[in-house]
Amino acid sequence: MNSELPPSLESFYQFCAQKRLMGTRCKSCGEILAPPRSLCPKCGSTDVEWTEFKGTGKLLTYSVIHVAPSTFQSLAPYAVGIVLLTEGARLPGMIRVTPEDLRIGLALKVAFDLITSEKWPSWARYYFVRADSP
Ligand SMILES: [Zn+2]
Repeated sequence: MNSELPPSLESFYQFCAQKRLMGTRCKSCGEILAPPRSLCPKCGSTDVEWTEFKGTGKLLTYSVIHVAPSTFQSLAPYAVGIVLLTEGARLPGMIRVTPEDLRIGLALKVAFDLITSEKWPSWARYYFVRADSP
């Protein structure tokens, strides 16, 4: 496992391909960010390190997308939301729960789709499901 990858979005998705949800922690002020950033927006420090999230959290806000970009049209309607991770970072993502379950405060956990493609690099996508789903 290579934790020496640069704190970029590309690295973030490389970790997703390994089913790991990673963010960055500012060594100067302790701010935790997801997706990762190389510059801390709170104190301006560039001294950041990788931190792995448990992948659990709560739904803070959401909206339901009916007209999706073509890549996601087959999934529409679907919900996207902001998840407050247990560690405190706020991560936007797709929320895959039934419409009846969709509510603010719902306990969620992360899951991953591995995308296999002829094109390099192959990548992965993360989304959230109910915390108590198998
Ligand atoms: Zn900072």
